[in-house]
Amino acid sequence: MWKAEDSIELYGIENWGNGYFSVNDKGNIIIFPNKDRTQSVDIMDLIEEIEKSRDLEFPVLLRFPQMLEDRINEITGSFLGSIKEFSYKGTYQPIFPMKVNQRKEVIEYIIKYGAKHKLGLEVGTKAELLAALSLGLPKEAPLICNGYKDEDYLRLALSIHNINNIIIVVDLFEEIFDILKYADIMGIVPRIGMRVKLFARGSGRWVESGGESAKFGLSTSEALELMKILKERGITDSLKMIHFHIGSQITDIRTIKNAMNEAARIYAKARKMANIEYLNVGGGLSVDYNGSNTATPSSANYSLREYANDVVYTIQKICEDEDVPCPTIVSESGRAIAAYHSMLIFKIIGKKNAKDSLLRTPKEEDPIQIDDLCSAFKEINIENYKEHYHDALQYRDELYDSFNLGNIGLEERAKGETLFWMVCKKAAFLAKQAEDDSDEFLELKKLVSQKYIGNFSLFQSVPDMWGVEQIFPTIPLHRLNEMPSERGRIVDITCDSDGEIKRYAGDSEGLEYLEMHSLMENEDYYLGIFLLGAYQDTLGDFHNLLGCAHEVHVMAENDDWYICQKVEGDTCKKLLDFFNYETKDYIWEIMDRCVTKKEYIHKKEQEVIEAELNRTLKGYTYFITKPNGTAKSKVDGPDLQRPEALR
Ligand SMILES: *Cc1c(COP(=O)(O)O)cnc(C)c1O
Repeated sequence: MWKAEDSIELYGIENWGNGYFSVNDKGNIIIFPNKDRTQSVDIMDLIEEIEKSRDLEFPVLLRFPQMLEDRINEITGSFLGSIKEFSYKGTYQPIFPMKVNQRKEVIEYIIKYGAKHKLGLEVGTKAELLAALSLGLPKEAPLICNGYKDEDYLRLALSIHNINNIIIVVDLFEEIFDILKYADIMGIVPRIGMRVKLFARGSGRWVESGGESAKFGLSTSEALELMKILKERGITDSLKMIHFHIGSQITDIRTIKNAMNEAARIYAKARKMANIEYLNVGGGLSVDYNGSNTATPSSANYSLREYANDVVYTIQKICEDEDVPCPTIVSESGRAIAAYHSMLIFKIIGKKNAKDSLLRTPKEEDPIQIDDLCSAFKEINIENYKEHYHDALQYRDELYDSFNLGNIGLEERAKGETLFWMVCKKAAFLAKQAEDDSDEFLELKKLVSQKYIGNFSLFQSVPDMWGVEQIFPTIPLHRLNEMPSERGRIVDITCDSDGEIKRYAGDSEGLEYLEMHSLMENEDYYLGIFLLGAYQDTLGDFHNLLGCAHEVHVMAENDDWYICQKVEGDTCKKLLDFFNYETKDYIWEIMDRCVTKKEYIHKKEQEVIEAELNRTLKGYTYFITKPNGTAKSKVDGPDLQRPEALR
């Protein structure tokens, strides 16, 4: 009998879940937000509560703030563990890079949970700096200013030098002149970092972020020139930090070792010229999204502890070798902190490719191709499937030609399509049995696989799945004590053929299909996409004007759990406003157009139009499956936090 353990194994939950997810005896996904096995959230209880409260429709994005806390503790703990193990004479400073997730609620959680480690923030633009300042970072927590900086950015950063632990990183050599100019005008001694270009490059998708041709960072001669400039001004000690970042999701530990070696050497040489306090190793700490523990793009071939050990050990060895003091090690592991904490829940609202229908016996007057397709279907077997499939392709083409010439009718066309489809399904099945992985039959397998329509937008909620073909674990959230009986692929509700989940977690390349359960009448089927906390929230776009999903934030406590915050997603109105449709006047404009039309429109009819417009404008942008009326009325309830602007 199929058990929960079989599903854990099938979907690789323990390989990618980092101890946060499992399956209980009821066959439901359970979540341990702080890894404490006595404090779990049964996802179906949570879904039931959301359904019952009737104020939010699916899709819903879940956030588990405690996972952010746990990751901050885990990463900091690993570095402190390595520091202790190697008796490293220095300490560790965690930083969260804002670009990984700028959502206000998320940054608030991170600041709160990071406070005991003095966790700081890294910003890359003026807007990110303003956002960071608005949230009241503790004074001792570093605020690292990266990115290309104009006058406004620099003046703002300098103006708060005395009340925040600002470090301005020179990303582009010429910036140093502006920094010094405005610092002089404002009477401030700046704290400066410099980003260096390493020869060592990243691996995987973001390989271009590092290496000699990287977009950011100073060459060796520029770095020397910068130190000379500071020295001439007598402010050598302004240089507080050496920084590098060779890219995100570095999947191969050897790349990290190489970069660390080079960077530590640069630090040690520079340390002899200036009293540099920090060595900032940037981001890059990988998340094993597909759970394969390999150097493939959605994975990592190393553990967190191995990463920390390599960083600490390399820096120590080189500092000893060069006889310089050990720096405070700074890391900006954004992905590794944020990825786990959020997931999207959506429902399957239908099937595509449901082309099976009853095989009707051919009639006398049917065209010959129908007869032929029928025989192909009856005779196809593992010996001859190729031949019969190729024949079927030809019969189908002939049939369409016949239709286009007006020789056969819709009835015959339909019969032919059904038969052809049935031959394809059988051929695909036989090809699989024969372990035929020729391109032709792989394509066919894809073609005949069942497509399930999920009520979500891949472009809004999982943009990297589309943009960089990253794998995010996508699995059913319940019935996991039942053996899955179907194989399918999930498509979203956008009108874009790219809105399809093409790879599923399970092996290093990603599986092409998801093992699913057959849909039941009168019972919703819920799926989850996991590990969405890094980069997905703000890279998402409004394809087809589908907006942000509703959010539910959940905490576990005392053997129980509770919803600590709900954030309402976008309404149609909010999206139209965002794209300048100014819905304030929208209804009136449409109404105007209606009445100026020649035909007289009755007042009653006008009222109906107005009511429908209003209702749709106020509603969720996604497919609404609840009965109308009930779902909407509580949206204005007092427990909902309404974000000010479109998020
Ligand atoms: C993007 C970025 C990071 C975050 O990298 P992760 O791989 O997500 O940890 C850190 N530092 C800098 C300078 C970045 O640009």
